[in-house]
Amino acid sequence: MTTRSETQTTLDHLLTEIEHRNPAQPEFHQAAHEVLETLAPVVAARPEYAEPGLIERLVEPERQVIFRVPWQDDQGRVRVNRGFRVEFNSALGPYKGGLRFHPSVNLGVIKFLGFEQIFKNALTGLGIGGGKGGSDFDPHGRSDAEVMRFCQSFMTELYRHIGEHTDVPAGDIGVGGREIGYLFGQYRRITNRWEAGVLTGKGQGWGGSLIRPEATGYGNVLFAAAMLRERGEDLEGQTAVVSGSGNVAIYTIEKLTALGANAITCSDSSGYVVDEKGIDLDLLKQIKEVERGRVDAYAERRGASARFVPGGRVWEVPADLALPSATQNELDEADAEALIRNGVKAVSEGANMPTTPEAVHLLQKAGVAFGPGKAANAGGVAVSALEMAQNHARTSWTATRVEEELTHIMNDIHTTCHETAERYGAPGDYVTGANIAGFERVADAMLAQGVI
Ligand code: GLU
Repeated sequence: MTTRSETQTTLDHLLTEIEHRNPAQPEFHQAAHEVLETLAPVVAARPEYAEPGLIERLVEPERQVIFRVPWQDDQGRVRVNRGFRVEFNSALGPYKGGLRFHPSVNLGVIKFLGFEQIFKNALTGLGIGGGKGGSDFDPHGRSDAEVMRFCQSFMTELYRHIGEHTDVPAGDIGVGGREIGYLFGQYRRITNRWEAGVLTGKGQGWGGSLIRPEATGYGNVLFAAAMLRERGEDLEGQTAVVSGSGNVAIYTIEKLTALGANAITCSDSSGYVVDEKGIDLDLLKQIKEVERGRVDAYAERRGASARFVPGGRVWEVPADLALPSATQNELDEADAEALIRNGVKAVSEGANMPTTPEAVHLLQKAGVAFGPGKAANAGGVAVSALEMAQNHARTSWTATRVEEELTHIMNDIHTTCHETAERYGAPGDYVTGANIAGFERVADAMLAQGVI
């Protein structure tokens, strides 16, 4: 029987090797550290997990595709972007995970997202493997026609790697209903197949699921509510700071408001808005979803209750709850200190890895309930899996049914993380609970399926 500290030493060696073999991928290193640093208790307790090669296989993607994406802008100039699809692990089902279109995208970013996705998808219990893709293409300021030509070019390569039983992409930052529409159209044209289940996040009326656009944000609020319930509290009357102003942020604010909380902020890369009366969602949706504008326009049009703070971060605004819903590493040590100083009770991650490791540590040390993204934001991919189920059965469910399933899944993930953390000697530590519970499901399937 190996002890926990011997196991941790082995895992630390592996982490050094990961850094060595994957140079210049800091986000992937960070994601691998975050998981491997919590696995010692389970690997020490269950010798089958210490089998040589198991964790080494888990940190190596099954397949990585990188391709050229040439397209023409509205002036007829040829542009070249880079496309990625990292098919990380398919032990539990077809690779599943979004596509991110953002100038910051590179292989390390896609690998961190794909790695997270393995455990997140396992936690949903819905039989989906982990993958992620995207491009360094920046849709901001591009016309619809340019976005369409880019998506068509992207899919002209991607189509050969995906399929409803193989790999099922969806949206992420920069990829919403518009992009999924163009991608789906090109897939259908090239393959001459109506294969609804090849992409999720489709439009209603052509295979999309009700509640899919809302699912990540709604799910995160349900997870935060479950963490509060555990502490004998609820959302009613709590003030919440939310970062971001995309799909996740918008539906986080919507659900918080519906459950009686007051969501007072949103943000983008130019700064943030604080609105003491609570964010007016109709106005925010009009600016972000219809006009594709910036959040300062919100403050201009909202009137006296709102102000725009250029360059600032929402975490300096006092609140009971914080729901980071923008992007990775957007909440650092100084932000965590500010939140703690202002008495924050819970932080729940709507984005993927928005909180730096140092900030997570500080929050947990201060007794703040911390919901890691791979558990708290799993509602999006969970409803994607429900969209696949509906596509397969050629049916569509009511919004009520999908939302009931989502609520059930989020509560189940919360319970699983909570109980697992307790079982492995880390009560209240949802990071450890999520990592171990996700790991157990994937590792068991990998062990059963042999060395592949
Ligand atoms: N991009 C989302 C995530 O980070 C959703 C992925 C999906 O629906 O496949 O989980």
